[in-house]
Amino acid sequence: MAVLRTLSIIKPDAVNKNVIGKILDRFESSGLKIVAAKMKKLSQGEAQAFYAVHKARPFYNELVEFMISGRVFISVLEGEDAIALNREIMGATNPVEAKPGTIRAEFADSIQNNAVHGSDSVETAQQEMTFFFSPDEL
Ligand code: ADP
Ligand code: MG
Repeated sequence: MAVLRTLSIIKPDAVNKNVIGKILDRFESSGLKIVAAKMKKLSQGEAQAFYAVHKARPFYNELVEFMISGRVFISVLEGEDAIALNREIMGATNPVEAKPGTIRAEFADSIQNNAVHGSDSVETAQQEMTFFFSPDEL
């Protein structure tokens, strides 16, 4: 397995619950390193562009509204097989289906308000990291 990088977002629901530190601890305890990080309130345009792949889905507008409802914590995680490892630690999209002990099982409220985002492939990880971070930040 190769050392890879992936983009993580702690979503507004989890930021509001004051569990940024607990979630970052999950990453670090699993062997992932935080190599870049920032906190910001996304603009509507940023959220629409970031989730453009879901534009045709019925939940798209609500998802964008949710993602701009408060601050998010955006980071780049690095480690062996980081993309798959992060997805494993996150748990399934719907917290009802997320394995016990995963971030979503513990902190998510619903299929939409599900605490974290994680890139799902090498290609999307690259796109998503450059969407939020400039080369000198990476
Ligand atoms: P994941 O974040 O696990 O990669 P998707 O890429 O399928 O999941 O969806 C992106 C985000 O859109 C989810 O994390 C969630 O916030 C939201 N979402 C996905 N499916 C639904 C749905 N059926 N209803 C409402 N929101 C959804
Ligand atoms: Mg996804």
